[in-house]
Amino acid sequence: SSTGDSAYRNDPPEDLGPDKDRVRVVVRVRPMNNRELERNERSILHGEGENSVTVQGAQHNRRFTFDTIFAIESTQEEVFHYSGIKRLVDMSIDGYIATCFAYGQTGSGKTHTMIGPGGANIFRMDENVRIKCFGLVPRAINYLFQRLREKSQETTTPYYIRVSYCEIYNEQIHDLINPAHSQSLQIRGSVEDGFYVENLFQTYIETMDELLTILEEGELNRAMASHNLNDTSSRSHAMLSIQIEQDISGEGTTSTEQMTRQGKLIFVDLAGSEKVKVSLSKGKQLTETNNINKSLLTLGTCISALSDPVKRAGHIPYRDSKLTRLLAESLGGHGITLMIACVSPASSCENESLSTLRYANRAKNIENAPIVKTDSKENVINRLKREVRKLKDENYEL
Ligand code: ADP
Ligand code: MG
Repeated sequence: SSTGDSAYRNDPPEDLGPDKDRVRVVVRVRPMNNRELERNERSILHGEGENSVTVQGAQHNRRFTFDTIFAIESTQEEVFHYSGIKRLVDMSIDGYIATCFAYGQTGSGKTHTMIGPGGANIFRMDENVRIKCFGLVPRAINYLFQRLREKSQETTTPYYIRVSYCEIYNEQIHDLINPAHSQSLQIRGSVEDGFYVENLFQTYIETMDELLTILEEGELNRAMASHNLNDTSSRSHAMLSIQIEQDISGEGTTSTEQMTRQGKLIFVDLAGSEKVKVSLSKGKQLTETNNINKSLLTLGTCISALSDPVKRAGHIPYRDSKLTRLLAESLGGHGITLMIACVSPASSCENESLSTLRYANRAKNIENAPIVKTDSKENVINRLKREVRKLKDENYEL
């Protein structure tokens, strides 16, 4: 069985106590691109063993330790096997909120690592090539269905899978599955009960192919904004949420109430972390830049506070941005979290790479206290009924 897989290389967690779980942080260094090679740039990042990386730049000389370092020659398959993502999938099936997010400057390999080379283009590749190129998300989806098939032989209670996909762009939330219906959506909820995006389209899916189709369409729908940096999606945060629901009535309880357990697997491809030069941005462009910075800056503030043993007990400003509200459970909350920090090895990226590694270095000190939340079936049904009524009121086609 794959649960006891030795591929959980960064398990078990250090001496945090049984009910704590540190945010896991892995680093992926992409190969030099053509431009960097043509300019004969020096590689300033060097892996040392599985866990450390040194920066030997013009201005800095530093060594960092992370859970795993993926050097330039690492394959998509290796990243899948050794990143710890399987543990996230397994725990999401067991009812935890499991989050994987990719952080790094534009062009550092976030989308390549999460989806595959060229993002949505991957789905148009020849089947054999595609399987090889698939990034973490399609591989995790494949693994999820494989595990659910295995589980369905042990238990008779079915799993239900619900998917939503949205992006935060300019501090506005847009639906990536159903873009026509999306004005900017609102976030509801609280730090205590969790936040959610109101009226975000959610669809039940039954097969892996259905889920991959949603991923493909969502990628195609990601905002296209002209921008001085190469990547059109470099300024939006994309969030795919896969909810795994199981009826657990009778499991260790004497209550006759029907209970469900809802795990969640969340993937976030963050906007580029680079500082946008103000001279490039005018008028509308300027507000976009500021707002993107607002979500990323707040994420940075929250990570800093949470990684500091003293500040962590105080106020964490989750509410200050859309992104941090939606990631509140994942950072310092009740979920489990994996961060993938993507960096270029080229000397021209020294400052951005160093900034990414420092950021990642703080994130690894964040402690979560994972718990499984259950809900009575009645609550779930009532909530769904409310949602249906609301959709009818708003004349959505059902
Ligand atoms: P980001 O999403 O961070 O802006 P991308 O994932 O789009 O960056 O990567 C930029 C370019 O570099 C793409 O052409 C991508 O295919 C390529 N690339 C990124 N990481 C790797 C890698 N590990 N191996 C080969 N090519 C990569
Ligand atoms: Mg990208």
